[in-house]
Amino acid sequence: VVDFGVKKMEGEAVMRRNQTLICAPIMADSVDQMLILMQKAKSSGADLVEVRLDNLKSFNPRPDIDTLIRQSPLPTLFTYRPTWEGGQYAGDEMSRLDALRLAMELGADHIDVELKAIDEFNNVVRGNKSTKCKLIVSSHNYDSTPSAEDLGNLVAKIQASGADIVKFATTAQDITDVARVFQITVHSQVSGVPIIAMVMGEKGLMSRILCPKFGGYLTFGTLEVGKVSAPGQPTIENLLNLYNFRQLGPDTRIFGIIGKPVSHSKSPLLYNEAFRSVGFNGVYLHLLVDDVANFFQTYASLDFAGFSCTIPHKEAALDCCDEVDPTAKSIGAVNCIVRRPDGKLFGCNTDYVGAISAIEEALQGSQLSVSVSPLAGKLFVVIGAGGAGKALAYGAKEKGARVVIANRTYERARELADVVGAQALSLDELSNFHPENDMILANTTSIGMQPKVDDTPISKEALRYYSLVFDAVYTPKITRLLREAQENGAKVVTGVEMFIGQAYEQYERFTKLPAPKELFKNIMATY
Ligand code: NAP
Repeated sequence: VVDFGVKKMEGEAVMRRNQTLICAPIMADSVDQMLILMQKAKSSGADLVEVRLDNLKSFNPRPDIDTLIRQSPLPTLFTYRPTWEGGQYAGDEMSRLDALRLAMELGADHIDVELKAIDEFNNVVRGNKSTKCKLIVSSHNYDSTPSAEDLGNLVAKIQASGADIVKFATTAQDITDVARVFQITVHSQVSGVPIIAMVMGEKGLMSRILCPKFGGYLTFGTLEVGKVSAPGQPTIENLLNLYNFRQLGPDTRIFGIIGKPVSHSKSPLLYNEAFRSVGFNGVYLHLLVDDVANFFQTYASLDFAGFSCTIPHKEAALDCCDEVDPTAKSIGAVNCIVRRPDGKLFGCNTDYVGAISAIEEALQGSQLSVSVSPLAGKLFVVIGAGGAGKALAYGAKEKGARVVIANRTYERARELADVVGAQALSLDELSNFHPENDMILANTTSIGMQPKVDDTPISKEALRYYSLVFDAVYTPKITRLLREAQENGAKVVTGVEMFIGQAYEQYERFTKLPAPKELFKNIMATY
């Protein structure tokens, strides 16, 4: 789980476009610690707190619950989760249900009772249900997400138990499991009983962020990264400031980055901040996808409006598109997919535009000629023959450069060179390759990427023949390769510039609006 640490501007007005609440789980050993966390929840922007009584090390029900209710700065939800439903409480059932009854009597705003215990709880209460306190009846599945039919039956059973609010949480084995939960959430709106429907795990993250769009009663947001009460909960900070939670509504369009792994991606930070800056009604998510074809088949509605695509799906995603831009087709990979108004998917490759335009700009500064590229006639050496290598090789060739491809696996270099019309080298041959001065070098392998920051694909000595060096690696921003190139007096272009360049292009395709270039640069400058 990554906390992006996005800071809201001081005094920034937040317009609330939905009623979905953010609930902070409060887990601590003592009542005093819980009270401190409650204050923190309020200042973080939560709407209510979930007091997890099962976390208390010593617990004296009447005075403790009374103190927690009276001193809470936010409305409360009391949960006393037993071990048999994934909680910490291992004591007798009667005391547990009695504590929940007490919470209701003492003025809790909500209590959570497990479906498996609801009949017994109803016996304990015997019709003396407080009208102020909302009864949440919950069911948790820590293994999987059942079929839509089974989920529908589960919701009906919970409703029939006398719940004021239905809650169920399932586990995502695949991101497509979330679709069934959205379907049930939307359907439940018709019955008028509020619903909390969560899919646990990283693959279920979408369910926690998009509940305002589909009509969920609340979502859980943590105070700190990793301090979760169920797997996959985002921080309140990320809900509010990364995903613009308060601005989401039924008509919000969904975008995201498809990858595996994907949680490290900074794309959501860029796009969501840009969406917010112009009031664009969209949200951009991390989408942890195993099978792209299955993903596109499942999320085929117009709501799912555009996608960025990263390792390892760029090639497979191309086959899912109804139409592919000719350059992306030649490259054999798409990194940007846009859904057209007719529902069809259009794929293109903006990696190539991002990197090549950043290199052109560095070569020529602001006097970029529209007719002739500064790359025309240059000797352009690409290290690597994977997705980024292909994109760079095609891009350079299209601009009239003479292209050389050097790759660890020579056969792949040869293959790409044959298709593009380039020369192939093995990586070992690169050190002695200097047919002329003033060449351009582009590293498109992951050599030099964190944590192996001391690695470099070419010696400093051999770098002397290059007047411009580009590195696709962007963590760190200045790799050893770029540092040594600078020391030799070469111009350098960083992977961050490529990242920003490809993002401009995607943003414009997603929104049909000009990309806020300065904003993108400023955001990335802090990383
Ligand atoms: P990819 O398709 O998996 O290709 C990886 C390439 O790197 C292959 O040519 C591979 O050689 C080579 N390689 C990997 N490890 C190596 C090693 N230890 N020594 C020598 N060669 C090695 O990956 P990709 O999508 O092209 O991405 C490559 C890099 O570019 C990644 O670091 C990625 O983060 C970066 N990238 C950056 C941006 C950006 O916006 N800045 C965009 C896209 C990609 P073999 O053929 O011998 O396996």
